[in-house]
Amino acid sequence: MARVYVEGYGCSANMAHEEAMKGALIKRGHELSSLGNAEYAVINTCIVKAATESQMKKRIRELSGKKLIIAGCMPKAQEGVVRSLAPNASLLGSFSSFFIADAVSRMEKGECVSLMDRQAVYPEEKLRTNKFINVCEISHGCVDSCSYCATKLAKGHLKSFPSLKITKDVNDSLKSGCKEIWLASQDNACFGQDSGESLASLVDSVCSINGDFRVRVGMMTPSGVIKNIDGMLEMFNNKKVYKFLHVPVQSGSNRILSEMKRMYTREEFVSMVMEFRKKYPEINVWTDVITGYPGETDEDFEETLDVLKAISADYAHVSRFSPMKGTLASRLVQLDSGESRERSRIATRLCEALTFEQNSKSVGEKSRVLVTERGREENQLMGKNESYKQVVFEGPQELMGAFCNVRITEAGLSHLKAELI
Ligand code: SF4
Repeated sequence: MARVYVEGYGCSANMAHEEAMKGALIKRGHELSSLGNAEYAVINTCIVKAATESQMKKRIRELSGKKLIIAGCMPKAQEGVVRSLAPNASLLGSFSSFFIADAVSRMEKGECVSLMDRQAVYPEEKLRTNKFINVCEISHGCVDSCSYCATKLAKGHLKSFPSLKITKDVNDSLKSGCKEIWLASQDNACFGQDSGESLASLVDSVCSINGDFRVRVGMMTPSGVIKNIDGMLEMFNNKKVYKFLHVPVQSGSNRILSEMKRMYTREEFVSMVMEFRKKYPEINVWTDVITGYPGETDEDFEETLDVLKAISADYAHVSRFSPMKGTLASRLVQLDSGESRERSRIATRLCEALTFEQNSKSVGEKSRVLVTERGREENQLMGKNESYKQVVFEGPQELMGAFCNVRITEAGLSHLKAELI
């Protein structure tokens, strides 16, 4: 039995990995422990952009005093970098994190393990970060090859997990008290393209399980939604599905979108979002934009700002372009960093104004909130309304994990304030 410390970074899919790794370690009789007491340290890495990559490198150096296991996206996408940083560490490719218990057992015998290409299996055990939320990774990888994306180097081509396994996991988790289901992956829209299943049929089978719970459909590439717009629109019609649409546009310029190898135009993107807004006026639209992509002109950037305004983005994550090792875009002539920093600042300011404008529309409305977290202050609760907007209000702790009715009293940038009714 080993004492193991696990630390994770990145997207919901990576979070699902971390929960699965912890579950697998406990099942094998290992003990999860604080860093100070641990013999082994596991870091579940993310390399979505350069700033995160530098943070990973720093953390790997800091943890190298322990028997180290490096998992997540970095080992597969940047093996050479990782080996030079931590020559004695054991490496788990993104698929292989579920074999963490084997890795620890072999390290206990003095081996340095490298598991890069094991076939992904749907995790049997999970140790949830939040006991009310079941994060289900429904597939690995995707069907696109965006020019800037390092995740593709780690996760590769699409591998969907069987709907039956996912639905059984959801059913079991509801029986053990979960109330919120996250369907997570690099791109939910392409789920089942490799197995003859579809996201709409998966959501249908999950929602047909009896019980009062909600389902969050995670990030989807716009091209995948556009290709199957009728099915996607219908999928959100189920009362259990949060009216939440996360579709990263990345740029508003058709020239830059084509350079990025994103398979849609600005016009197609805007019209797709507006179809959702027409059918679900309460829908909460999230997107992502990259500023400073190589070759981006002032006009291209203006077009990105125009798209954000055209869809009235409820939230947009702005990131400055960073050339990730091994990607096509890293070989292009880079923009002046001052220029891209300034564009990122302008875009962020616009996004905050749009978020506040959108959130202000909810003031005075009644909402049914699912409470999943305690707030920072005493007697403060946090949860999500029907549109997956964060709502904060005062209430008794007994409401944790329950649905309750509130009236929205105030709008903020990161959440709505409310009172119980
Ligand atoms: S869709 Fe594009 S950005 Fe998303 S994981 Fe795939 S290659 Fe990367």
